[in-house]
Amino acid sequence: MFQKEYTLIMVKPDAVRSNFTGKILARIEEEGFAIRAMKRVRLSLAQAQEFYSVHAARPFYGELCTFMASGPVVAAILERDNAVLHWRDVIGATDPAEAKENTIRKLFAKSKGENAVHGSDSVDNAKIEAAFFFSGLELAGQ
Ligand code: ATP
Ligand code: MG
Repeated sequence: MFQKEYTLIMVKPDAVRSNFTGKILARIEEEGFAIRAMKRVRLSLAQAQEFYSVHAARPFYGELCTFMASGPVVAAILERDNAVLHWRDVIGATDPAEAKENTIRKLFAKSKGENAVHGSDSVDNAKIEAAFFFSGLELAGQ
């Protein structure tokens, strides 16, 4: 038996701007995820810097945070067996040029920087990222 697991995902500003949110949400449900919490919010630059602080030393950090604050994102907590790894499979490689056919990044991403969606990289980080976007009251509904 698999245990249900949670992951935190975002539809990034490029995909929201291009009106891909609906198609991406449809794919989420087709893949067997349950949407447990969801919101559309525009991050401030400081909030984007906090969310991606693990990348603070990387050369692309400034560009990444400016992009993530450039327009609204749709953030959601998804539940499924093996949610973290399954979502990473569904979204594909960071660079859409390297992403497999039919992955979300292959279908919808513009570039390595503007790559349509985010996914937590571990169960522990999913908990931290879920708490970044959702209050205790919202999380209590899980
Ligand atoms: P995410 O964490 O957003 O799901 P990821 O786990 O596939 O993406 P990370 O290595 O965590 O990739 O990088 C975080 C984000 O930083 C990437 O999704 C991308 O938007 C941006 N990024 C990563 N590498 C580069 C790069 N070389 N040039 C420009 N942007 C980059
Ligand atoms: Mg990552």
